[in-house]
Amino acid sequence: MGKIHLLPPEIVAKIAAGEVIERPAYVVKELIENSLDASATRIEIHLQDSGLRKIIVHDNGSGMSKEDLLESFKLHTTSKVSQEQQLLSIASLGFRGEALASITAVSDITLQSRTANEPIGTLIALKSGKIIEESTAGMPVGTSISVHNLFKSAPGRKKFLKSKQTELRHIIEQIIYQAAAHPEIAFLVTHNGKRIMDLAVLEQKPRLSLLFSRLIQDKFVAISFKDAYVEVQGFVTPPQLSFPITSKQHLFINCRHVADNQLARLVKQAFGTSLSGNRYPAFCIFIQLPFEFVDVNVHPRKEQVSITNKEQVMSALSQAIKSALSRQEPDFSSSGLFPLSQEDITHSFAGLTLRETVNPWLVRDSEQKINNFEPTQLHNLYIVMPNKYGFVLIDQHAAHERILYEQYMSAFTKRMQKSEFIFLEEEKILDLTLGEKNLLEEREHILNSIGFKFKKKDDEYIVLAIPKMFTKRNIEELIKELLENMKNIVILNSFQDPKKMPKPVRHDEIFVDSQSQKMLAFLACRQAIMAGDKLSNEEMKRLIEQLAKTENNSTCPHGRPTKIQVTIEELNKVFKRK
Ligand code: ADP
Ligand code: MG
Repeated sequence: MGKIHLLPPEIVAKIAAGEVIERPAYVVKELIENSLDASATRIEIHLQDSGLRKIIVHDNGSGMSKEDLLESFKLHTTSKVSQEQQLLSIASLGFRGEALASITAVSDITLQSRTANEPIGTLIALKSGKIIEESTAGMPVGTSISVHNLFKSAPGRKKFLKSKQTELRHIIEQIIYQAAAHPEIAFLVTHNGKRIMDLAVLEQKPRLSLLFSRLIQDKFVAISFKDAYVEVQGFVTPPQLSFPITSKQHLFINCRHVADNQLARLVKQAFGTSLSGNRYPAFCIFIQLPFEFVDVNVHPRKEQVSITNKEQVMSALSQAIKSALSRQEPDFSSSGLFPLSQEDITHSFAGLTLRETVNPWLVRDSEQKINNFEPTQLHNLYIVMPNKYGFVLIDQHAAHERILYEQYMSAFTKRMQKSEFIFLEEEKILDLTLGEKNLLEEREHILNSIGFKFKKKDDEYIVLAIPKMFTKRNIEELIKELLENMKNIVILNSFQDPKKMPKPVRHDEIFVDSQSQKMLAFLACRQAIMAGDKLSNEEMKRLIEQLAKTENNSTCPHGRPTKIQVTIEELNKVFKRK
């Protein structure tokens, strides 16, 4: 009898709604997870056209018998769960018996597999969900699944895909997560016949180079904690090396890359006051828990889990980090208490050292004093400013965002106008992670437009020229930061309606591409005072003055209003005064 069976309806009813195969990356993720569940020690992934033309995942795992192979692609058939009780303690990555069925529904698929008990394997090819070929296959023990023409029969899905580069980036991201969590497994990845990742079995630390640059890894502090219930191990950056973003934070629970805001916040809290509010550590943390305490059935793509006894996990994590940090030597020279220089690096784009040059709080304004009226802050969110017509109500964050955006845009276009760059005396080979290389390939034109010039040799990027403005900067660090910022913009915007994306604009007769615009808007948003920030009278006045001087000052760069004028006439009407 085969191992794969149809799940009984009462279990089907309990599993969280469907595997979501929305993009090639999820196909790759599901197929790798199946290989991992089959105890493979080597997994090969071959892609064509960002996975849209072909995805092959080939493993040396346990394989499937012919009987099992014929069951594997049907809906809700699995070998991993058979009783309801098992749903409470899932030890495998898959358990819903849906992935192969969902992939089969939107592609042509060929499955080949052989177990150690069989002298020869079986091949099954399906088109539009129907078997078109069934034969024997000479092959080593393991499984090879090849997915062709993804979404051919679902053009609706295809429409929502991003550029091929972006889809490839998502695939690589998924592979990186799996490879980082499984250093004991070798991975080989090719794209259009070119080898893009070849990972031998390694210790965990070298695998981290998949997620982090050397710069970060060199500074990593190891953390560890273990008791009868929970094991925590991994790495965090020390307080001296913090970031304005959270995308360098990676959490794995029982080897799954998961998002958990509560735990991520806790990591930051463990740093106490050594990190200011808008700075975050980078980390890669692996938490191991008994399977019965982790419910992975709460999210369709299993990207979130629910943990029983979360407090215990939180206390373990907190202890692990605090004790590791307390062993650290304090480094006052670049302490998080003085983040200005880091901030400058991070918030630079196209030659804008934002804090120093354009932050309105640093501008000593002598003209245009607001004399007669005093502003008042409302709930640390709004500013009420009486004027001769009545009063203006200002959204402090939206207003500041608009001010900064206009200033950044103007500095940006000035720089573009000059487009000053210098060739480096010595060409510099960049030490980029795979993800970064991919991003650079995708966005090279933006960096070119502001004065960077690159050359590619043997798959490495070499910097030939840089914007003049950056001569004193660490080029590699700067490029990495720029790439990181660009990545965030894509992530932010992937949730937005594409119709509402900013269109390319002309600013001072210079064409500013929409990517740069988004970047500037993003930086403005990051730098702007937040809702909830207390402002002094002076600060409120300066904000109002700056807003008055800003063109397009009625909305923020994302289109939200910055201010509302309420007139005495309107008030009189409301209060039924004549
Ligand atoms: P699930 O992983 O949730 O069980 P899938 O649709 O992904 O569901 O796979 C169905 C079944 O096919 C699995 O339970 C497993 O028995 C078998 N299978 C899939 N891929 C492989 C593989 N690479 N090696 C061995 N068995 C596999
Ligand atoms: Mg699966």
